[in-house]
Amino acid sequence: MLSEELKERLAKKATTEFISTTEKGEHLVAIGSSLQQNPFWLDKSELVHEIEGKFYDSYIKEHADFKLLVRESVLERLQAAQAKLPKHWHIVVRAGYRPLEVQTAMFDDYVDKLEAENPDWSMDQCIGHAEQYISNPYHIVACPHVTGGAIDIEIYDSENGVTVDMGGKICELGVKSHILNDKLNKVQRQNQETLIEAMFDVGFAPFSTEWWHFSYGDHNWARFYEKKCALYGSAYMSI
Ligand SMILES: [Zn+2]
Repeated sequence: MLSEELKERLAKKATTEFISTTEKGEHLVAIGSSLQQNPFWLDKSELVHEIEGKFYDSYIKEHADFKLLVRESVLERLQAAQAKLPKHWHIVVRAGYRPLEVQTAMFDDYVDKLEAENPDWSMDQCIGHAEQYISNPYHIVACPHVTGGAIDIEIYDSENGVTVDMGGKICELGVKSHILNDKLNKVQRQNQETLIEAMFDVGFAPFSTEWWHFSYGDHNWARFYEKKCALYGSAYMSI
């Protein structure tokens, strides 16, 4: 069951109002061994590789030491969320900080794909559709993953040896990726609610079109919690 406060926040329509940022200057830190991780760039399944993984390839060639990084407060909150989940549920971090060049390549590719698949769509329609799933680096000053405040996660169930069923697979964009959508069966809905509630309890904001995406300190978080400012601007590996 979702708490009343979370239900109210989820029901509010997202604004597109500009959110400024007061960069806190917090470091990016590695996920380390406190949580499980399985970075998208190591996942060669077609779904993940095509949507996200392959865009890291050229970046990693030039930055061999690249690893899963998030802002310090994000890591602390992830560890706190882990403690709130059922004992046999383990957070598996799939993505955190995303370099701007990776973000841009992902967005460009998705718009190109939409253009090719929908010849009757205008460029504005393609961009509008793409923006539901991938932040537009040409319009947004600090895209969520580029700030190091956004994360993509899934849950491993060690009791049953499976990834917890949330309806759609991670990176499977469309209706199935929308949180608490109408197509979920009872168990899938309960699984999503358990995850979202634990993440909300420690200050993360969920993202309406992707059940696996949460953020702290970026502009989606600021809107969800009706803050005037985001806490993070774009991050770089060196800060
Ligand atoms: Zn994400």
